[in-house]
Amino acid sequence: MLILICAKIFIFFGVHSRCLRSFAYSFISGDICVQPGYSQNTHSYDIIHHLKARPHNRSGFLGGIYEFKQTELSNIMALIVQKYGGTSVGTIERIQAVADRVIANRDKGNQIVVVVSAMSGETNRLISLANEIEKRPSTREMDVLVSTGEQVTIALLTMALQAKGAKARSYTGGQVKMLTDNVHSKARILDIQCGNMQQDLKDGNIIVVAGFQGVDENGNITTLGRGGSDTTAVAMAAALKADECQIYTDVDGVYTTDPRVEPRARKLDRITFDEMLEMASLGSKVLQIRSVEFAGKYNVPLRVLSSFEEVQGEGTLITTEDDEMEQAIISGIAFNRDEAQLTISGVPDKPGVASDILGPVTEANIEIDMIVQNVGEDGTTDFTFTVHRNDYDAALALLEKTGETLGAKKVKGNDTIVKISLVGVGMRSHAGIASSMFAALGKEGINILMISTSEIKISVVVDEKYLELGVRSLHSEFGLETQPA
Ligand code: ADP
Ligand code: ASP
Ligand code: MG
Repeated sequence: MLILICAKIFIFFGVHSRCLRSFAYSFISGDICVQPGYSQNTHSYDIIHHLKARPHNRSGFLGGIYEFKQTELSNIMALIVQKYGGTSVGTIERIQAVADRVIANRDKGNQIVVVVSAMSGETNRLISLANEIEKRPSTREMDVLVSTGEQVTIALLTMALQAKGAKARSYTGGQVKMLTDNVHSKARILDIQCGNMQQDLKDGNIIVVAGFQGVDENGNITTLGRGGSDTTAVAMAAALKADECQIYTDVDGVYTTDPRVEPRARKLDRITFDEMLEMASLGSKVLQIRSVEFAGKYNVPLRVLSSFEEVQGEGTLITTEDDEMEQAIISGIAFNRDEAQLTISGVPDKPGVASDILGPVTEANIEIDMIVQNVGEDGTTDFTFTVHRNDYDAALALLEKTGETLGAKKVKGNDTIVKISLVGVGMRSHAGIASSMFAALGKEGINILMISTSEIKISVVVDEKYLELGVRSLHSEFGLETQPA
């Protein structure tokens, strides 16, 4: 019976191979793209994607169908969103190399949407120009200024593609249209309308989109926060229901820790969305946090790759947890150099005091990271919390004011601290990780200033001079340089 059904499927696809192709085509080019949403792919797409993704499922009779479909699949276009970061487009030479890579991928039969960052150093250069005029310029005008970096690269890359004979068109965030809220400098994407782009893709164009930028409902230019081109790429991939979102950068994947700090760091073939989210939010800048959130939410297959490799490797796939995952307890070490610590001591230990202290800071739009309240003594208590180093001066001024109102004994700050974190889903089921971590740091004479834990991470705050030593000693304590058995 089973053989009969399988044979019928085989004959169906044999006779109706165009049907399979048009199914896939309507999915890829579909009239579906308006709202980021990634849930109900057609069944045919699921089959295609599954077969493409798992070429090892090819034994026996079903293997015969697989081989047959692979031939068909080679005729079916995949839609790939590729994002190239600042160093990847840092010079005209690099832009030419990106154009070659994009064309090579298109020539394999794929439709390509490229998202680019500004040339390396450009966003920082623009920010310092503004700061020569004003320390805290209007965020609206800052967005008008910093978004220009990406407008330069879309035009240059599109010209390079055209000069190499490819059909290509550039799109600014406003042209896409990448609709965001109006929170300048950290706007959130609300909607993407890619109708024109769909037509351009159908007409055989390579689409080049400016990362990092959007527009609010009144047409004001907005930006998505530092590293925001990653989020543009993932959001585009979700909206277009792309087969994969590839983030090309200057390392060949996600490592157990930043390879620039620990040269013995090991590249991971796969990492879960949850772990990558923790790594990103704890300071691993290889991907912007929101891009990982977005990819997890809309189930976008996300891969980090190098744009510098001659022979393209597999990079790191960020995906849901499955049997092919490494069974490591710790998957990586993240760190954040951008932290600063503030302490207020000797405040009355009474209900509402936490909100009296932290309220003015959050009202000033300053994000608070770690918070520790000590056990009260003599009816008073101490609070310590951390903020981004850029917000240190403003937070300290606010805390000093609160200290006066509450009659605090002391207010002090430290902007030379860093946070180091161990991340791993395996921690859920393993005790003793925290004590091994503290012992390893103690052995090196590293004093821990603050500790915070969650199900899959342990973070410590230490003096910034111990960053490299701390990361390296933990990397070796947990044997991260060797692949788990
Ligand atoms: P791009 O300009 O391409 O967006 P980024 O500088 O934002 O590149 O991100 C790549 C950098 O992230 C690498 O050069 C590396 O130093 C850093 N990084 C931090 N943590 C990690 C990690 N765990 N794995 C790989 N790279 C990391
Ligand atoms: N150019 C922006 C930045 O430097 C966005 C990005 O590169 O992703 O943060
Ligand atoms: Mg980046």
